[in-house]
Amino acid sequence: MKSKNYKQFWKLGKKEFNTEQFDMNTDGELVVREGNYQYNIYDLARKFDSSIKVFMPSVLEQRLSHLIETFTGTIKTQKYKGKFTYHFPMKVNQNKEFVLPLVAEGAHLEVTSANELWVVKKMWEGENFHSKIRILCNGPKTVQYLKLIQYLEDKNLTITPIIETLNEAELLKDFKGERGVRLNMDIKVSSHWDKKIDRFGLTPEEALSLGKVRNLKVLHYHLGSQIGNENDIIIALREAFKIYVKLRQLNPTLDTLDVGGGLAISYQKKKMYRMESVVKRIVSTLYDLSEKAGVPHPNIITEWGQYIAAPSQFTVFKVIDTKDIPKGVAQKWYIIDGSFMTDLLDTWAIHQKWHVIPVNHMAAPKKERVWLAGLTCDSDDKYADADGHVLLPRFSDLAPGEDMFIAVLDTGAYQDAFSMHHCLISSPAKIVLQNGLVTVARKRESPEEIGKLFGW
Ligand SMILES: *Cc1c(COP(=O)(O)O)cnc(C)c1O
Repeated sequence: MKSKNYKQFWKLGKKEFNTEQFDMNTDGELVVREGNYQYNIYDLARKFDSSIKVFMPSVLEQRLSHLIETFTGTIKTQKYKGKFTYHFPMKVNQNKEFVLPLVAEGAHLEVTSANELWVVKKMWEGENFHSKIRILCNGPKTVQYLKLIQYLEDKNLTITPIIETLNEAELLKDFKGERGVRLNMDIKVSSHWDKKIDRFGLTPEEALSLGKVRNLKVLHYHLGSQIGNENDIIIALREAFKIYVKLRQLNPTLDTLDVGGGLAISYQKKKMYRMESVVKRIVSTLYDLSEKAGVPHPNIITEWGQYIAAPSQFTVFKVIDTKDIPKGVAQKWYIIDGSFMTDLLDTWAIHQKWHVIPVNHMAAPKKERVWLAGLTCDSDDKYADADGHVLLPRFSDLAPGEDMFIAVLDTGAYQDAFSMHHCLISSPAKIVLQNGLVTVARKRESPEEIGKLFGW
């Protein structure tokens, strides 16, 4: 096989798979491109001693700017009168080196808890953003959360608490700022999270029973993550718009529809719907519906987290040992120097599938079917893709003293905050590739640091 074909085989350099920054060099090693800069991941894995998480801010920034340009461009060509703003859902990735470039690139924020709002306070105190940025506050409003909402509102930040229960409407009665309402629609979408009974938000009847709500600006809903079907997004939008119009009759201040998160990406590198197409349909649907209903075109908010975040990070492990599998759809266990359970928890929690590729020996003609096993003693700490195995170069083909590294792509969403300490495994070091420079954002956890968490 020619090297071009190996690049094809590992599905690198493809925009539709979010792998356009990846390439293979002539030595069969994984490289990452950032404009004219290039990083050799095999060198980095040896230099920083795996396991490592590799974060690429340029990928994150490009994804956000492309999304914003797509919306503003579509709004212009369709002569839509509402505005678009993107709110990054902080729960997807709260790391400082991650959130700051997003805010710089024009993201507003959505938070879910008092502690996430505390991060906003830190940013504001550090003068990391001007007070025009808007913060949507979802999630149950504890006393501490409400206090912080009020504190930041008093500091002239645009803080928009989203009412999720009838009780919260009462608690926020005296709040002077703008607010939103979260809608819980009885709608089915193709997603892991499509539960019959949702605990978030108000039913349409409850929302309408609120009557006049002081300073109501936003109607918000969130269907779930990784929505599998483009049509589901539009069906829900039509349904939400009906409630929007009814709420607006009582509350003429209402001017914004927030469609939440859920735009999917192809973790397994199979064909998916395109963001550009969803954006066009959202704008044209809202245009038509508003014209028919005789209401101004609403401003549009999306909180697409995973879509923006996941492709900006990948995780590198070393294969430290192998074992035969006597009877199975795979031939060998490859044991890695990290853990799916502690570092990529969704593997265990929701049976997340990833795209796993070699970091060296990428052009090895012979491969074997393997199962990956993590460092914990847990029998659930393993991974195989949807075909029941992972295809990787043969460990037995390594030269003496040579190491084998593998990369798990698209690990930038959720996994960092989910990481845990089963068997006291250390979290990987975090490395940032930016402007041709490689920096360490987080060192690998030492035994002392982990021990401390448990009182040692
Ligand atoms: C989790 C969440 C999101 C982000 O969902 P993605 O699937 O990552 O796009 C957005 N909004 C709310 C309210 C959420 O709870």
